[in-house]
Amino acid sequence: MSLLHAEEEFDIDYAASLAGRSVELMAKNEIPATPANFTLWFNFALGTIPRLNKTIYALLANKRKFDRSVNKGLYDTFVKQQVGALGGVEIPTEINSIIANARDHLAVAISDNRSQIQALDQVSSDLDRGQDAAVAIKRLQSELHDATSRAARTEARLAESSAELAKIKESLAEAELRSKTDALTGIANRHMLDQHLRSSLISAMEHGTPLSVFMLDIDHFKQFNDRHGHQVGDQVLRLVASVLRSCVRDRDLAARYGGEELIAILAGTELEECRDVAERVRAKISGAKITKRATGEDIGAVTVSIGVAQFVPGEAADTLIRRCDVALYEAKKQGRNRTVVADAADVALERNDTSPQSS
Ligand code: GH3
Ligand code: MG
Ligand code: MG
Repeated sequence: MSLLHAEEEFDIDYAASLAGRSVELMAKNEIPATPANFTLWFNFALGTIPRLNKTIYALLANKRKFDRSVNKGLYDTFVKQQVGALGGVEIPTEINSIIANARDHLAVAISDNRSQIQALDQVSSDLDRGQDAAVAIKRLQSELHDATSRAARTEARLAESSAELAKIKESLAEAELRSKTDALTGIANRHMLDQHLRSSLISAMEHGTPLSVFMLDIDHFKQFNDRHGHQVGDQVLRLVASVLRSCVRDRDLAARYGGEELIAILAGTELEECRDVAERVRAKISGAKITKRATGEDIGAVTVSIGVAQFVPGEAADTLIRRCDVALYEAKKQGRNRTVVADAADVALERNDTSPQSS
C-alpha cells in the first residue's frame, strides 16, 4: 500500500501525528530535512512498506549512521517506485504537485465540513441553553457564508487542477504513442508488434477467424548502404515502410521487426489474400524510383523479398514468425524480389520437434 492509498481514508489529525512522529525520528537520527527524507520517514511512520520498516529497524539496531548514501539508498529502493511510478511509468512532477494541491484543497473542504457541523452543534446547544435564537442563527449564517465562499474557491482550484491534468493526459498520450512507434520509419516498433501479435492471435482463436502475416527484407541492402551512404539507406527504409503502411488497411499493423526487416499483421485474412497484399507491396517498392534527396540523382530502385504465413490456431507467435522468416529465406534463395508462402505443415513438424511423446 502506498501513501496514495492511505489518502482514501485521509484524516488530518492522523496525518499530523504521523508528520510529527516523522520529524521527531528524523531529528533523533540526524536526518537532513529534505523532501525525499521527509517522504521516506513519513512512510516509515505510516508503516505501510514492511520491508522499509524492517530495514530501518535493522540499521538502527546496528547503530548504522544515516548518512547521505544510506538515505538515498533507502529512498530509491523503497519509496521512489511507490511515489514516482504508476505501472512502471514515471509520474511527471507536475502530476505529483497537482495531486498534492488537490489533497490540500480536499483537506480544507474536510475541515470546513467539520466546522460547519461544530457550528450546528453549537447553535443547537445554545438554543437548548435558552440563548436568543436570532443571535444563534446569525452566527450560523455567517459561518455557512464563509464556508460557502471557501468551498467556491476550492471548487475553482480543483477545476484548475483538472484542466492541468487534462493537458498532462494529452502529453502522456503523445508519449505513449512515441513509445510504440519506431523513430526512423514512423511505423509500429518491435514492442508494439509483439503486443499486437500476441493479442491478435488470441482474438483469432477466440473468434475462429483467420490471420496472416508477412515479413519483408530489403534485398542487398548492405551493398546499397555501402554504395550510397547510410543516410540514403535510411531514406529508402522510410520509403519501404510508407509503402507497406499504404498497402494495408487501418486495422492491420505495419511494424519494424529489426534493422531492415518489416512485418505486416493482417487480421481476418486468409493466406491467399495476404499473399496478394504482399505482392502489391513488393511490386510497388520495386517500381518506385529513388532519387538522392541531396543531389536529385536518380539511383534506380530497391527490391524486397517477402515470406508469408497464415496462423495455425494454437501455434506460438514465435513459430509463426519463424515460418515467415523461413519462407523469406526461401525467397532470397530463389533469386530475391519475390514472395514465398510458408508451408503450414512446418507447424506440425515444429510441434513434433518439441514434443518427444508424440508418435
Ligand atoms: P539480403 O538481400 O540477403 O537481405 O542482403 P542484405 O545486404 O540486405 O542483408 P544483410 O542482413 O547482410 O544486411 C542488412 C543491412 O541492413 C545491414 C545494414 O547496413 C542495413 N541496415 C539495417 N538497419 C538499417 C538502418 O536503420 N538504416 C540503414 N541505412 N541501414 C540499415
Ligand atoms: Mg536482413
Ligand atoms: Mg536484406
